[in-house]
Amino acid sequence: MKKISIIVPCYNEQESIPLFYPVVENVLKDLEEKWLGIEQINHEYWFINDGSSDGTLEQLKILQAADSNKVHYVSFSRNFGKESALYAGLTHATGDYVAVMDVDLQDPPELLPEMLSGIIDEGYDIVGTRRSDRKGEPPIRSFFSNMFYRFINKISQTQIVNGARDYRLMTRQVVNSILSMTEYNRFSKGIFSWIGFNTKYIPFENKDRVAGSTHWSFWQLFNYSLEGIIDFSDAPLSFASFTGIISCITAIIAMIFIVIRAAIFGDPTTGWPSLVSIILFLGGLQLFCIGIVGKYIGKIYLESKHRPIYIEKEEK
Ligand code: UDP
Ligand code: MG
Repeated sequence: MKKISIIVPCYNEQESIPLFYPVVENVLKDLEEKWLGIEQINHEYWFINDGSSDGTLEQLKILQAADSNKVHYVSFSRNFGKESALYAGLTHATGDYVAVMDVDLQDPPELLPEMLSGIIDEGYDIVGTRRSDRKGEPPIRSFFSNMFYRFINKISQTQIVNGARDYRLMTRQVVNSILSMTEYNRFSKGIFSWIGFNTKYIPFENKDRVAGSTHWSFWQLFNYSLEGIIDFSDAPLSFASFTGIISCITAIIAMIFIVIRAAIFGDPTTGWPSLVSIILFLGGLQLFCIGIVGKYIGKIYLESKHRPIYIEKEEK
């Protein structure tokens, strides 16, 4: 008997949950029938209520009461973010195969059979999904997303597939590897890729949410991408030393130029505007580089406190 665990992070999703459950339940029933005779498969759900302020927990309790063998939930003491919710789900899941999916049905459940067959028939360890287009997304957001992927893949050892979703099915071995990464600053897209293993991506067309609205504003996404860069690359630190070297070289060239000019033309005391500009420029550059270093120190600071990744209030 093999078990699939479905992990679903939920934050203020009271409208989506009742729409999500029957759709996924149908897909999984068909899937289990299809495999009958070859492999006995059953499933469980782990819904993570990430400190919602609406009726999400009530909705989860209704589902849980209706099917208490299969449906479980964990409720956080406050909003810890999707990354923490995913970690909590992976900690609780008991399945041989574990899927992570959003509750807004933007991650098509119809792909689950193909994903499972990717693991069982084709021998992959992870079957992930990738948006083949960015339909319905503001063009400016797509532009910056594409820039982010190009940039991070250039400067980081950890390669992240453009458009890859968190929606994926993994083997128990993969889940245990993810759980062994207990870092506080969790950037799942990077973690999923860092652990390695054979991964296959299934492309699908972007869909709109069934209900509710996205929790991400443009600036939140921007900050999230900066976190990703800092968590998985130290290239910005090298950039800081690089700008230091460049400005030293420029200064030496400028000194030689000034000495020669003074020797040939004498030394009229002009040039304070250029001096002020140079001082401001270098001051700015120094603060910028200290800022980069500060970002990394901030990460070390949080990491060294060893705070829990989430705090659970109740579970069933
Ligand atoms: N989510 C969460 N905690 C948060 C924000 C989001 O658990 O602080 C969940 C949310 O309920 C949903 C998933 O993460 O199931 C993806 O969120 P959303 O649809 O807002 O992101 P998008 O699909 O727009 O990237
Ligand atoms: Mg969504």
